[in-house]
Amino acid sequence: MSKKERNTFLSLVKRDLKVVWHPCTQMKDHEKIPLIPIKKGKGIWLEDYDGNQYIDAISSWWVNIFGHSNPYINNQISKQLDNLEHVLLAGFTHEPAIDLAERLVKLSPPKIKKCFFTDNGSSAVDAAMKMSYHYWKNKGFKKKSKFISLSNSYHGETLGSLSVSNIDLYKKTYEELMIDTIVVESPDCYLKNEKHTDKQHTEIMFDKMLKTIENNHKEVCAVIIEPLVQCAGYMRMYHPIYLKLLREACDKYNIHLIADEIAVGFGRTGTMFAYEQSKITPDIICLSKGITGGYMTLSTILTTNNIYDAFYDEYTKLNAFLHSHSYTANPIACSAANASLDIFEKKQIITKNKILSEHISKSLKSIATHDNVGDVRQHGMIAAIEMVKDKSSKKPYPWEERRGLKAYEYGLKNNVLIRPLGNVIYFMPPYIIKEREIDKVINVIEGAIDIATK
Ligand code: PMP
Repeated sequence: MSKKERNTFLSLVKRDLKVVWHPCTQMKDHEKIPLIPIKKGKGIWLEDYDGNQYIDAISSWWVNIFGHSNPYINNQISKQLDNLEHVLLAGFTHEPAIDLAERLVKLSPPKIKKCFFTDNGSSAVDAAMKMSYHYWKNKGFKKKSKFISLSNSYHGETLGSLSVSNIDLYKKTYEELMIDTIVVESPDCYLKNEKHTDKQHTEIMFDKMLKTIENNHKEVCAVIIEPLVQCAGYMRMYHPIYLKLLREACDKYNIHLIADEIAVGFGRTGTMFAYEQSKITPDIICLSKGITGGYMTLSTILTTNNIYDAFYDEYTKLNAFLHSHSYTANPIACSAANASLDIFEKKQIITKNKILSEHISKSLKSIATHDNVGDVRQHGMIAAIEMVKDKSSKKPYPWEERRGLKAYEYGLKNNVLIRPLGNVIYFMPPYIIKEREIDKVINVIEGAIDIATK
């Protein structure tokens, strides 16, 4: 690295810390933990101004699926830029949004017919909550105003989406601002009794959900759930049977099922959408993150004609769904999303991911035997490793010890970006990663565990 490059690196850090307030960050940490200005990204690699390269093993917060600066997506965006950068979606429309809505509907179960665009994950969840509540209101169910969600769930950080989330780290401080929701214990299989299979544990845990639904259904609009993996909730996983049982209970008690596929959608768990593994049709599906291949902010909620029709009325009845973001269905974002779907189709990504996830599974085998690893779990292209203080009791390390941070720093020194969630190191790479690159990441994760559990 030349002196000039070094100076640019240092000056960017200095300028940034003067004016930029970073997300999910105690800014004082940057007195000790270096901030890393990234100069470029190519494929799975990120490169900083110091010339260091890092494998993006967490897909930049789970958004990137076909690598950074993907030539095909770049090209499609660039074509779109020549035609139309943006237009409001009320009273006007455009081809990229229509194409995308048609394609998403086609990828969904037959009952899903409509696509309502929003512009980030949290706003999709807020809109889904409003849509469900408003549906019941339009149908004359005046008492239905509550939502059920799982303990350890994460649905976003706007006030609505945070209200249905249940991780203290993000929520506790803001408790008084939250709307009242009903929380049911998660089927999280990490917490299962060893004598049970994942399926048995999940079924047993569903009883708690069923009882809650039975006792509260008259006041409940919807159950909102992250299908199969509670991603921000330390990548905790459960068996697909839960969604099947939940679908049956929601049908029986007149409650919507909202599937928050924001993190697990677009191939992450081995199928295009995670709910497919339970063979169910949610009433509302929230999508974002991977939707644009990781290029831009865009989100959508998909729903049925049954829900749509409850809003379709004379203007003066004031039954229309009122939710609007300025950048709704931005054409450049939609063109990135269409390009990303092209790649899924042309390159048979879901089939190829099966081979990659089997390779991940094999490479992770040796990690499970580590003295301070309490669990290694995987759903398709999401793998997670739980570092524990005591293997037999699964006693966790106290959060104040920040073991995950030690793993993060070790990863960076060894050219791999991992960003553990507390004591959990996870691996969620772009789908273009090669087997030898998977081996490299897992090798670094092994080293990171050694350092972090010392
Ligand atoms: N739902 C889930 C399941 C998520 O994982 C996230 C983001 N981590 C969100 C909602 C919120 O998305 P966004 O960060 O785009 O607001």
